[in-house]
Amino acid sequence: MSKFDLKKAHFATLCIHGSGGVDQSTGALSIPIYQSSTFAFKNAKHGADIFSGEQEGYVYTRIGNPTQSAFEKEMAFLEGGEAALAFGSGMAAISSTIFSLCRSGDNFVSSNTLYGGTHSLFVDTLPRLEIEAREVDTTNLSEIEEAIDEKTRCLYIETPANPTLMISDLAACAKIARKHKIPLIVDNTFSTPYFQRPLELGADIVIHSATKYIGGHGDTVAGVAIGGKEFIDDLRGNFLRDLGGIISPLNAWLLVRGLKTLPVRMEQHQRNALKIAKFLQFHPKVDYVWYPGLASHPQHEIGKQQMSGYGGMVSFEIKGGRKAGEKLMNSIKIFTLAVSLGDVDSLIEHPASMTHSTYSSEELVKVGITDGLVRLSVGLEDVHDLIDDLSQALKAIKI
Ligand SMILES: *Cc1c(COP(=O)(O)O)cnc(C)c1O
Repeated sequence: MSKFDLKKAHFATLCIHGSGGVDQSTGALSIPIYQSSTFAFKNAKHGADIFSGEQEGYVYTRIGNPTQSAFEKEMAFLEGGEAALAFGSGMAAISSTIFSLCRSGDNFVSSNTLYGGTHSLFVDTLPRLEIEAREVDTTNLSEIEEAIDEKTRCLYIETPANPTLMISDLAACAKIARKHKIPLIVDNTFSTPYFQRPLELGADIVIHSATKYIGGHGDTVAGVAIGGKEFIDDLRGNFLRDLGGIISPLNAWLLVRGLKTLPVRMEQHQRNALKIAKFLQFHPKVDYVWYPGLASHPQHEIGKQQMSGYGGMVSFEIKGGRKAGEKLMNSIKIFTLAVSLGDVDSLIEHPASMTHSTYSSEELVKVGITDGLVRLSVGLEDVHDLIDDLSQALKAIKI
């Protein structure tokens, strides 16, 4: 068999072949799980050469592992970046990236609507190290401009944002970042590279919680950062090696397998989500539906320009607030009451008391995470069953 040029491959082909294909030493179709902590050197010089960087090779799984490399290679292809680095969680990828760019006394500007753990890192933990996150409404470009000063080291955007699905204009954010000579970091967890490729829109670094759609099956916690080779080398050489937030070989393998079906999963997540958004939109017990694919979404037009699809997350405001939401979540049968997202199983949760309980009550009001906001991660079950389930659970609410 001759070798196929992956540079010419389309997205779905890369999802299946981008990790390197058949194992050359055994012929195994599926990449082996290199469940080894350490790697033997051929002789003393070989070991010294790998340590000095004169020869490529593996040393120790905290620094790198072949199964991990296969996943990283594939993520770099899919996001269109030079290199990628896997981590043991999305939070490890986010914290290591910020540590690599900011020192004590520095600040950075970020979206104010973020995954709850990211918000907590930014406003509770980083200030202990004298790093200041300036959270602003990044759908409003002038707020970004106003927050940047000479100590600002990066711009951090989550779009669509968790859980309100607000969309920031990535090309415009990239322009601001370039003007101030700071890198633009984008958390692309909700869209995946299948629907949105921030590097092509001018971003410098892309981050994922690979726990979500990349893995796709609710069985792995992992993260990944993608960017230029120099940045990724520094991240690996200093922040992964020294802070130790590594991925296990088994989890890297699960992600390589998850990626093989990413395009078909994302298409179906989106198809189901749009039908559910439309069902909820006109339901008498629902006040408002947040889904970027609906024309009523405030940034629908920007979404249309920068995303090729709108994904599987739907949030909605239920009439009757917290009490009605609790009744809904206690009455639902097919959706699982659980945090996390992007799984084949449909999930339902209440951001204000669960994923976003790291926000103070004032902050929740400010970013629009109300007591009546319910978040759905629409899975791959038959959509008729999902709609019937939501319908019966909404019926159980007496207002
Ligand atoms: C879940 C999530 C994270 C954190 O990732 P973990 O894998 O849970 O550490 C970061 N960003 C977004 C948008 C998320 O949904």
